[in-house]
Amino acid sequence: MKSHSCYDAIPTSSKLVIFDTTLQVKKAFFALVANGVRAAPLWDSKLQCFVGMLTITDFINILHRYYKSPLVQIYELEDHKIETWRGLFNNTPVYFEILKILITNRVCLFSLFDAIYSLLKNKIHRLPVIDPASGNVLHILTHKRILKFLHIFGSMIPRPRFLQRQIREVPIGTFKHIATIQESASVYDALSIFVERRVSALPVVNERGKVVALYSRFDVINLAAQKNYNNLNMTMREAIASRFCCVEGVLKCYPHETLETIINRIAQAEVHRLVLVDSDDVVRGIVSLSDLLQALILSPAGIDALYS
Ligand code: ADP
Ligand code: ADP
Ligand code: AMP
Repeated sequence: MKSHSCYDAIPTSSKLVIFDTTLQVKKAFFALVANGVRAAPLWDSKLQCFVGMLTITDFINILHRYYKSPLVQIYELEDHKIETWRGLFNNTPVYFEILKILITNRVCLFSLFDAIYSLLKNKIHRLPVIDPASGNVLHILTHKRILKFLHIFGSMIPRPRFLQRQIREVPIGTFKHIATIQESASVYDALSIFVERRVSALPVVNERGKVVALYSRFDVINLAAQKNYNNLNMTMREAIASRFCCVEGVLKCYPHETLETIINRIAQAEVHRLVLVDSDDVVRGIVSLSDLLQALILSPAGIDALYS
């Protein structure tokens, strides 16, 4: 990872959508849906540079902050431009930290190791790869893409022995205070948990505590696709049933399974995490790509970016 640059992990061709910061936020989220992308770099034409990213998390933050009831239109979503929203919301130190990285990390010059550190340290899921010569964004790097690269290259190097260890024997994942949601809870409740806990997905559980579905931040974009973001009182059960593009069932793992099995499953399914369950399907933990990249890449180098 230290000897490969971010450039090595990007595909030869891919689609990239960029938004001008004067675009209305509502149009921007519809444009994410229409173009089938999950995030877009933001271009400020006055400053003539990229100033940040617009992701589904921003959509969640807007809905959560301004939603009142199904009878009241979300005026801020209808009228705000991206720059208005950023001025109001992104005034936190975290934002400046991330922004500095976006501007100063001419990421092509940086190794994949640096990219992983940046993703985990800043708790973000998108890192634009910028061509240092032109200043253009070439690609948006994600944990999934890096794992795919590692998976292909990993087959050419000796396998570390710890890949054969069972997940219950190694501290890889989160096993306490798992954020879950009841299937009878509302979509607004789910958005509140996303905002407060900053987790990327929620296992959906029934009244007996069994996991029955998974609702990720990505799934919230269905509200824009179906134009039903004015009814956040609908239940998780309804929201899950109405998703039109999702993984069948819940992708899980069990405490006795080896790290290698788990990595293969997560890479093959192209999801961001597996839900760790016991034999009764009760949620015991989350094994996310962040946990795997921390354990496989950063921990052996003595760096803790995720849990520090
Ligand atoms: P998601 O999981 O919804 O794709 P992220 O976790 O990547 O979202 O984003 C969380 C927040 O950080 C969002 O407000 C997003 O606009 C911002 N963000 C994401 N990536 C970057 C980046 N590389 N530079 C600056 N801000 C970013
Ligand atoms: P992203 O690429 O934005 O990180 P995710 O992997 O979080 O996306 O989600 C992509 C889709 O896969 C969503 O519809 C989500 O519900 C589904 N998904 C993600 N993880 C799981 C899982 N462990 N089990 C079932 N579905 C999942
Ligand atoms: P992620 O945002 O999925 O890349 O994960 C960042 C960290 O949050 C990892 O250590 C995950 O194990 C943890 N995590 C992810 N989802 C949850 C959840 N629902 N509850 C508790 N921790 C979580």
